[in-house]
Amino acid sequence: MRAGRITVSTRQFEVVDVPTPDAGAGQVRIKVAAAGVCLSDVHFLEGILSPGYLEGDQVTLGHEVAGVIDQVGAGVTECAVGDRVVVIAGERNAAHQITTMGFDYDGGWAIVTGKQGKEQQDAGSKDGQGDHLLAKAGSGLCRFWFGHGKGCV
Ligand SMILES: [Zn+2]
Repeated sequence: MRAGRITVSTRQFEVVDVPTPDAGAGQVRIKVAAAGVCLSDVHFLEGILSPGYLEGDQVTLGHEVAGVIDQVGAGVTECAVGDRVVVIAGERNAAHQITTMGFDYDGGWAIVTGKQGKEQQDAGSKDGQGDHLLAKAGSGLCRFWFGHGKGCV
């Protein structure tokens, strides 16, 4: 898939090819239906904001994301393929530090490859292929319960 990534040391933004991720244990993969462009992203690109816990020098932007789970990893019982979710933009890392999606780990600005530009986006919405990101099940998702108005998982 193609992803909108920033190189933090230079603040260079580019759209590059990256492997489409698979959900690992305790994770779900989400087909992104919408990903916001936030002023925080602009501040990140301009160098006003920086990631606190990024491993490496590049990250895929996008911390305001909603979509549909299309793959669940081993051990995930609280979510299922087809669940519509909003991804909470932060989670704790192994050191229990609060990290931010799209800053400290990859976010939702990504598109499955195969075609280019607008045509690519249109194809994504038509054939069920879409943008993907990973999220921890259980702590990083807020599930939509349309008609019931309840529940975060
Ligand atoms: Zn934001």
